[in-house]
Amino acid sequence: MNVASARRIWLFGLAAALAACAPSEPPNVLLVSVDTLRADALGAYGGPVPTPTFDRLAREGVVFEQAYAPAPSTAPSHATLLTGQEPQRHGVLRNGEALAEAATSLAEVFRAQGWRTAGFVSSFVLDPRFGWSQGFEHFDANISERGSTMRKGRAYPGAFWAAERFDGFDRRATATTDAAVRWIAGAPEPFFAFVHYFDPHAPYVPPAVFGERVAGAALPMQGRHVPGVSPEQLEKLVRQYHGEVLYTDDALAALVDAATRKSKRPTLVVVTSDHGEGLGQHDCLEHAVHLYEEQVRIPLIVHGLGDLAAGRRVATPVALADVAPTVLELAGLPGLPAPDGRSLASAARGGAEPEPRPVFGVRRLVSEQVKWDRGVKLSVRRGTWKYIWASERPHELYDLAADPAESRNALGEQPDVAGELRALLAGHIAAVPKLHDAAPLSEETREALQALGYVE
Ligand SMILES: [Zn+2]
Repeated sequence: MNVASARRIWLFGLAAALAACAPSEPPNVLLVSVDTLRADALGAYGGPVPTPTFDRLAREGVVFEQAYAPAPSTAPSHATLLTGQEPQRHGVLRNGEALAEAATSLAEVFRAQGWRTAGFVSSFVLDPRFGWSQGFEHFDANISERGSTMRKGRAYPGAFWAAERFDGFDRRATATTDAAVRWIAGAPEPFFAFVHYFDPHAPYVPPAVFGERVAGAALPMQGRHVPGVSPEQLEKLVRQYHGEVLYTDDALAALVDAATRKSKRPTLVVVTSDHGEGLGQHDCLEHAVHLYEEQVRIPLIVHGLGDLAAGRRVATPVALADVAPTVLELAGLPGLPAPDGRSLASAARGGAEPEPRPVFGVRRLVSEQVKWDRGVKLSVRRGTWKYIWASERPHELYDLAADPAESRNALGEQPDVAGELRALLAGHIAAVPKLHDAAPLSEETREALQALGYVE
C-alpha cells in the first residue's frame, strides 16, 4: 500500500468515526411568541374555536398543558422567555424598562454557537431601545403608523410610552410574517428566528374574513362581566378576540411552512405567549392587572424534532422561564448562565413528567399614577393550591382543582396551606430580589412588602 492510499483509508476512517459520534445536524430554531394568547383560546387546550395551525403543531408535537407566564405583562415575560430568568432577577418588571446589557439572551447563545440569528417583533414594547435586540444579527421592529391598531392616545396615566416618540405602536401578523419569511429564505443555516405577534392584544379588530369564521361560535360567557360594558358588547369583544387568534393562526401557518420547508434540516418550532387576557373574568377585559389563571396561563407547544414524543401532553405545571433552557438542550447547546428555569427536554422526549416545582408570578401596574389598582401582587402555585399576595388588597388562596375559576377565597379555611405558600413566596423573593430597583415603590407598597419580610 502506498502512502497516498494509506492516507485516503485513514481519512475515510476518520470521517466515518466523526460521523458516528457527531450529534445529529444542528436544527434550525423558530421561537414564536403570540402576545396576549390565553392557553384556552386554542382548540388544543379546549378552546371554543378550532385553531388549525396551533392544533396541528400540538397534535404532532408536545403540549405543556399548564404553562405559566411569570407576569401578566409583555416586557417582564419576554425578558423571562429570552433569558430563562424570573423578572425579579433580570429586573424588567414593567413595560418600558430595559433588559440590561449584562443579561444573556437565547439569541446571544445561539449566535456564539454559530447560528444565524434574527428577531421580528410587532409591538413598540419590544423596540430595540429597550435592549431586546441583544444577540440578534438582524432585528426587525419596523412598525409604522400605517396598519397600527393601537393609538398613541390610548394610554394609562403615566404610561411609559406617553413620553416616547414613535411612529406606530404595533404591526399586524401578515407584515411580521412577510418580514420573517423573507429573512428565513435567504438565511444560511442553522438559524434561530424569534417572531413576536401582537394581534390578540386589544383593540380586537380581526380582518373581516376571520371575524366571520367566529361569528357562530358558542363562547363561554357565563360569569363574565366588565364594569361599564354591556353583556352584548362584552360577547362581541370576546368574539373579536377569537377572530384575532384565528388571524394569527393563519399567519403562523405561513411562517412555520417557510421555516420547515426551507431545507431537509430539522426545525425546532416552539410556540408560546407572554400572558393571557381577562375577557371578562374577575371583572377585567385585558391584562397586566391580575395574577388569576386567565391572565397568566399560556400555551406552550414544542414541535419538529425527530426525538420528540409526538402527541404527548405534559400535565405538570411549568414556567415560561423553562423555555430557554429547554430550547438550548433540544438544540444540543450549552445552557444559559444562572437560569431560574429548568430544561423540560427530557419530558418533551417522552421521559418522566418534570419534577413538580412551585410556579411564581409577579405583577406591577403600568404606572404608580394609576389609582384604581395599585401596588405589587405576587403569587405562587404549588400542586393545586395557588396563593396570591397583594400589597394593597386582601390575600387569596384557591384550590385550582375544586375551584378553577378562582371564585371562592379559601384563605380562612386553610390557614396552614396559606402559611406554607406565604413562606415559599417570601423565600422566593429573598432568593430572587430586585423587586424595587426598577421603579420607585409607593410608600404603602414598600410598607406592605416590608410586612412580608422583603424590602430592607
Ligand atoms: Zn403582552
